Amino acid sequence: MVPVKKKKVVLVTYKDVFASKEAVGLAEAAGYEVAEVVFRGYLKHGGLGIGPGVAEDIKNKASVNNFETIIIDAALTSSQIHQLGQTIGLEVIDRDKLILDIFESRATTAEAKLQVKLAELSYQLPRARQAVRLSKKGERQGQMGLGEYAVDVRFRALKKQMSSIKDKLGQVQKRRSLHFTQRQRLNIPFVSLVGYTGSGKTTLFNRMSEEAKEVANNLFTTLSTTTRTVILPDYSKILLSDTVGFITRIPTYMIEAFRSTLDELFYADLVLLMVDASEPTNEVAIKYYRCLDILNELRVSTSKVLVVLNKSDKSSEKKLADARELVGDLPSIVISAKDGAGTRSLKNRIRQSLKVRLEAKII
Ligand code: GDP
Ligand code: MG
Repeated sequence: MVPVKKKKVVLVTYKDVFASKEAVGLAEAAGYEVAEVVFRGYLKHGGLGIGPGVAEDIKNKASVNNFETIIIDAALTSSQIHQLGQTIGLEVIDRDKLILDIFESRATTAEAKLQVKLAELSYQLPRARQAVRLSKKGERQGQMGLGEYAVDVRFRALKKQMSSIKDKLGQVQKRRSLHFTQRQRLNIPFVSLVGYTGSGKTTLFNRMSEEAKEVANNLFTTLSTTTRTVILPDYSKILLSDTVGFITRIPTYMIEAFRSTLDELFYADLVLLMVDASEPTNEVAIKYYRCLDILNELRVSTSKVLVVLNKSDKSSEKKLADARELVGDLPSIVISAKDGAGTRSLKNRIRQSLKVRLEAKII
């Protein structure tokens, strides 16, 4: 691949360590070079999404430093995006668009591509609806300048395209549940790895399945599920699956679009919830609760969750103790996916949990 020169961006994010770190990670995962970070207490306000004074400052800095793009770490309306672009003369990307771009560049399977397309159309729909409203009032939306008829046609076309993609995804999903029935017939337990991106899922997956797969420090390297057979210490077999990474403030329509991939979790016999226990305790807590929320949204019972506290090699005793306290009643195990500490015990724990669950199923 020809190395592409990274686009320099100015990132406007929240005055919050966690939010801003995640936003920088997202921008980098999308292939940008974050040249400047502007912190604001509040985003999305006014016609520009940021205050006019801040916009003016950024405009001046941009011309000196050759920034090409501005990323706003919040969802903006199409008119805010348009007006901000006009005002400061840079390409404007909001948080939703940034996440979509990452998804798009990472989608490899036919299903992932359909899901990305659906998420993109869902992103465009409210914006197209706004355009319809404006055109009915006789105003032309600046961005496209389309008249009422054209805007209406576009809106309908979007809806039609969305329903056709949903149909196709439905078919893929049907095939998928068929696979699950087959797996159940084979009686091989199915174990899913979930958790925040960067928690170490792929590292553990590779160690367990001895598979060399891309490991990255980026958010979202894993979009589609990969499943491999793993042999446990007692020579029994499981199917282990590496899944999508979670992020905070992910819009509901995106979870909706990726539901068919995430739905796999519903069928899993055991869910390994990976937590990076080396991070500051409050960040560990935010991510952990968000993961539990998502699992709950996906109707995954906590009775089949085993929490894996990862990165023990670079975590202090104090942090590990805090993490254990956070996890509370759910079963947990401390490991280092990187150096392998605790991974044998993990396999034994998997065997044990499956035994209990599968026996309960038979009765
Ligand atoms: P995923 O997004 O959850 O799949 O996370 P990855 O497996 O891609 O890991 C993200 C980063 O964390 C990589 O740089 C890994 O090398 C690193 N990592 C994963 N597990 C460990 C661990 O146990 N200890 C340390 N120190 N780093 C780890
Ligand atoms: Mg991964």
